[in-house]
Amino acid sequence: GVRVRMAPSPTGSPHVGLVRTALYNWAFARHHGGTFVFRIEDTDAARNTEESYNSIIELMRWLGLDWDEGPEVGGPHAPYRQSERADLYADALARLRASSHTYECYCTTAEVDARRKASGSKVMGYDGFCRELTSEQVAAFEAEGRRPIVRFRMPEGTITWDDLVRGEISFETQFVPDYALCRANGEPLYTLVNPVDDALMEITHVLRGEDLLSSTPRQIALYDALIEIGLTDSTPRFGHLPYVMGEGNKKLSKRDPEAHALAYRDNGFLPEGLLNYLALLGWAIAADRDIFTLEEMVEAFDIGDVNPNPARFDMKKAEAINAAHMRLLSVEDITHRALPFLKADGVVGDPVHDSDAQLLELAMPLVAERINKLTEASAMLGFLFVAEEAFEVDAADAEKLLDEKGLDVVKAAHDALVDLHPWSTDAIQTALQGALVDGLGLKPRVAFGAVRVAVTGRRVSPPLFESMELLGRDRSLGRLQRALG
Ligand code: GLU
Repeated sequence: GVRVRMAPSPTGSPHVGLVRTALYNWAFARHHGGTFVFRIEDTDAARNTEESYNSIIELMRWLGLDWDEGPEVGGPHAPYRQSERADLYADALARLRASSHTYECYCTTAEVDARRKASGSKVMGYDGFCRELTSEQVAAFEAEGRRPIVRFRMPEGTITWDDLVRGEISFETQFVPDYALCRANGEPLYTLVNPVDDALMEITHVLRGEDLLSSTPRQIALYDALIEIGLTDSTPRFGHLPYVMGEGNKKLSKRDPEAHALAYRDNGFLPEGLLNYLALLGWAIAADRDIFTLEEMVEAFDIGDVNPNPARFDMKKAEAINAAHMRLLSVEDITHRALPFLKADGVVGDPVHDSDAQLLELAMPLVAERINKLTEASAMLGFLFVAEEAFEVDAADAEKLLDEKGLDVVKAAHDALVDLHPWSTDAIQTALQGALVDGLGLKPRVAFGAVRVAVTGRRVSPPLFESMELLGRDRSLGRLQRALG
């Protein structure tokens, strides 16, 4: 069956490109009823951090992209952190060394560079100097105290594969130098551990970013050697996903704020909104359709439909897609998901007080359809939960709407409401409509704008009359009065 993997290196904060790679692998696995493997490529101890590892796990959990084998889940090829698999790499390396596919190399980088300068060669990387050392040369190097690295001996000829995204790709191996598989101290390198693990974990399809395309010919050559030494019996198919471009048509880099995947969670995105948007960076469910669920993606996903051209990241579109997913949720679901933000912003306590829970249940239906991100709930609802002495009117909104004319409106509203019975949405609406629109001849926007700012503190709020009913008579009238000074 299909076995795919994501294999992030835990350096820094996870990037949206990683999420797209994870999503495509996951959707491919789920579409084919296959297995989604999650492996951590953390052999580079100097660059990897536990913090980064934790944030990748946290990210995957938040996204809801479940993995069948990997950290915290285990599986038949455990462990799934490369830092815990040293013995397996040592064994693979020993077997490769016993075959003719590798050789010991004693050269320093400075020597290789000097030879390249002297020869005027344009080919970067190693020149094959140590390929055919005699035992005397080896002895001389050893006597100097040099310790060798192990290089892979690239075969001659052309390496071709049928890329799942980009079609046939060929490399002439004369331009693919022999490369290091481990350091002089025996520490295995990415060049070794990545294909060895793909082989051991029986990966059938490698779907990864285009930035890794240049390592594919080396890996395919190594695969042939791994087949020869009996580590596996086939080479996976490769598919290279398009670059994600940011501002100014440059690759989205770790320095771009929109690159940080967990920031979307913290900024109130829904995981399904982010995933839907990232799915569109190289794939479409249909020509005229942007919004879909993960289930629909799984059903429709075909790696052959992925567009090889660079995809442009567009924050506005990401937000619009997220907003569309907000519209798909029930009020209960939005409430549940907004709660951590409401707590963090101090709108409600933690744990939520009973009376606040009741108010929230009444208020959320007014808000759910009006917010595009979960973070917007706090600003929309704050006026209902705030203690009267702490209630504040947004200064800019007050300046715009509570000018002299606005205060006349507020005064008229107060007079119209002061003896109102019952205090209900309908009665409030009828009273204000009568006093402000019919009575003062104001346009509804002008009339209710001033009242809205006085009562909710902002120009953007849940529907006014409902809000005033929830806020209650005393608090509503008190705020109108307060605006009048
Ligand atoms: N650890 C590699 C990276 O993060 C992944 C390589 C691969 O997917 O083959 O770039």
